[in-house]
Formats: sequence, C-alpha cells, structure tokens
Amino acid sequence: TRPFDPHAIKRDFPILQQSVHGKPLIWLDNAATTQKPQAVIDRLTHFYEHENSNIHRAAHALAARATDAYEAAREKVRRFLNAGSVKDIIFVRGATEGINLVAQTYGRRHVKEGDEIVVTHLEHHANIVPWQQLAAEKGARLRVAPVDDTGQVILEEYEKLLNPRTRIVALAQVSNALGTVVPVKEMVAIAHRHGVCALVDGAQSVSHMAVDVQTLDADFFVFSGHKVFGPTGIGVVYGKKDVLAHLPPWQGGGNMIADVTFEKTIYNGPPERFEAGTGNIADAVGLGAAIDYVESIGMEVIARYEHELLVYATQRLLTVPGLKLVGTAAEKASVLSFVLDGCRTQDVGAALDREGIAVRAGHHCAQPILRRFGLESTVRPSLAFYNTTDDVDALETALKRIQSSRGYRL
Ligand code: PMP
Repeated sequence: TRPFDPHAIKRDFPILQQSVHGKPLIWLDNAATTQKPQAVIDRLTHFYEHENSNIHRAAHALAARATDAYEAAREKVRRFLNAGSVKDIIFVRGATEGINLVAQTYGRRHVKEGDEIVVTHLEHHANIVPWQQLAAEKGARLRVAPVDDTGQVILEEYEKLLNPRTRIVALAQVSNALGTVVPVKEMVAIAHRHGVCALVDGAQSVSHMAVDVQTLDADFFVFSGHKVFGPTGIGVVYGKKDVLAHLPPWQGGGNMIADVTFEKTIYNGPPERFEAGTGNIADAVGLGAAIDYVESIGMEVIARYEHELLVYATQRLLTVPGLKLVGTAAEKASVLSFVLDGCRTQDVGAALDREGIAVRAGHHCAQPILRRFGLESTVRPSLAFYNTTDDVDALETALKRIQSSRGYRL
C-alpha cells in the first residue's frame, strides 16, 4: 500500500482532469457510477491489444491468455470479498442482473404460493422489482422492513416480519438514496436463526468499506464493477458453495454445459453453470485491475478517509441556509441526500452542473424510501476517495450562491 494522498489519487483518474462548462470537473455522482483510474483503462487496452480471444473453447495462445486473464480476475474478486473459493464467484453484467439471477434460480425453486420475501424500505428498485416479479409469478408476498426517521432499519420490526413462510430476505448493505449503512451482518444472522436465505446487495458498499462475505455469512452477495472503479457491464454474484451446488441453471447456452445431446443436457458445476454464452471477458479483466488499484490503497484506509470527508461534508452542508439532509443515520457512507428550501432539486442539479459539479438530482431508483420521507426527489452528492475537502468547499459555495439567488430556475 502507498501513503494516502487524495490529490495524488485524483491524478490517477484522467477523466477528472478536465473542465466542464469552463470549470474544473468535480465528480460527486459516485453512487451512480465511479470513474476509472488509468490502470483500469490501460488494462482494457492491453487486453484488446494482446490477449483478446474467446475463453475456454479454443486451443491457441490467445485463448490461453484471455482465459488466464479472466480467471485471474475471478481470483482477485474472490480475494476482494474473502470468498472461500473461485467457484463461489459468478460473473454477471451487474448488481441488477445478479439479483435477477438469484430470484430466478434460488427464488423460483424455493418460493411457493403463500410464501414471503422480505426487503427493507431502503432498497434500490433493482432489489425490489425482481422479488415483486417472483412474488407475482408464485403467488407469494413481498414484505417490507420499516426504517426510522433517520433512515435506519428498525431491527425489531424486521425480526417480527420473519416467520415460517419467509423464504428470502434481500438487503442493501448501504442505501444508495440516503447512505445509511445497514447492520446486514446482524440481519443475516437473524434471517439464519429463522432458517431463511439472505441476499446482500453490495452495490453501494464495496467501494467504501472492506467486505468479508464469510464474516457477513450471507448466502448471496452481489455488486457492480462500475461502482468500484471498474468497467460497466460487469458485476458479481457471490454464492455460498453449498447453496450454489443445489441451484438450477439460469440461462441456457454454451459454456454452462458439460455435455449436450438432443435428448439431454448435463450442466457444468458453479460458476460456469451460471455463465451461459460468451461473458464480458475484457471488463472482468478490467474489474480485476480496479480491485488491484483499490487494494493498493487499502479498503481500510479508504473507509477511514471517506468517513472523515463525509463528516466534514455533512458539517459544511448544514451551514447552507434552508438545506435539509434526508437520511441522518449514525452510520452512513458516501451519500448526502438533501433538499433545499424553495428550490427544485432538478434546478439545483442543473445549477451545480454549470459550476462543473456533477451530482444526481432525482429519485435515485429508490422511490419507496424517498416517499417514506414525503419526497419525490432529492439532490444527492456522493463521495469517493478521490474527492477532497476542496470539492466539498466548492459544493458548499455553489449551494450558498444558488440559495441566495433562489429561483435560479431553468
Ligand atoms: N443496488 C443498489 C443499492 C444500487 O445503488 C444500484 C445502482 N444504483 C443497484 C443495485 C443496481 O446496480 P446496476 O445498475 O449497476 O445493476
């Protein structure tokens, strides 16, 4: 690991060196997607210049290189999550596809009419809709663990929802809309005490904190490469070995089979059983490079720095007249969701954009939790380890200007 200097880190990200609308770009939309360090861009270029081939199937030098690179990336993911085996790591397109995979394999097999699936009020639509679809197909019921006024899950209410009909709980580790860090380890343990399978959605957690799937003990853990400084179009499902071993395949096609006749197909074991067709080989390799990059800094170092930056940013934002933070849980990561008195969120977003500051304004694909707070939309800056107190100061200054010239309307 190298000494932590956010200014030096920012220089590793070529996209952050540009100006937008004549202002230096300040990227505070990390919950939507993160930027890519030069090391990831170089790794993708190297793959296409020297290694590109389909994997597993052909016996020539490039096939061997591509296969080695792809499987090395799987090992990097395994290490990143501290999974027991590379066979527990399935490559998919992203968190959304990962949750759908679990809903359509584990869910279809185990959820029956009258059964229940538990989610929290904080979930991203990606961790609601696939369960809703499954529930509709099976005649099952979706139940929702409520949150308190800070945006934290109420553990006692969650536990009360679990009963002999519960088959699956699906929980975000960090809320993308409010930044709440959810006590998923405890919640998984509670699920297991009731004999219930647990999926943890790590889309917003893996870039901000060290994750150990063995300590977490979740049956499934999913995340997206693009939110952890890797490419789009690549993501991961971790599954416990004995859970994956008993899952039916998902999509059918090449790569996931051991033998095919017109009468019968014998499927491969995990992870190939769940990776039908040609996968996103280059981007898996790029994700491996992203993991190497964050590990060269260290997740503990990143988490500590970001925590300090979030505390600083929270204090600064609270000095903006009329600003109301939404989501004030004691434990948060990265996200600062807010509304500004007398200003439409879209207008605030557009006005910040004119200052070169990129934030998201909208419902963040998490409408239920915003509506829990009586809102349809918030402004949502979200921090990463390449952000600095200068970025936060620029945000504060811009917001104060917007607020004082209220009615900055489009
Ligand atoms: N879950 C959470 C908590 C998210 O924040 C997101 C992305 N905003 C997703 C799932 C879905 O990720 P993706 O769009 O990369 O599949």
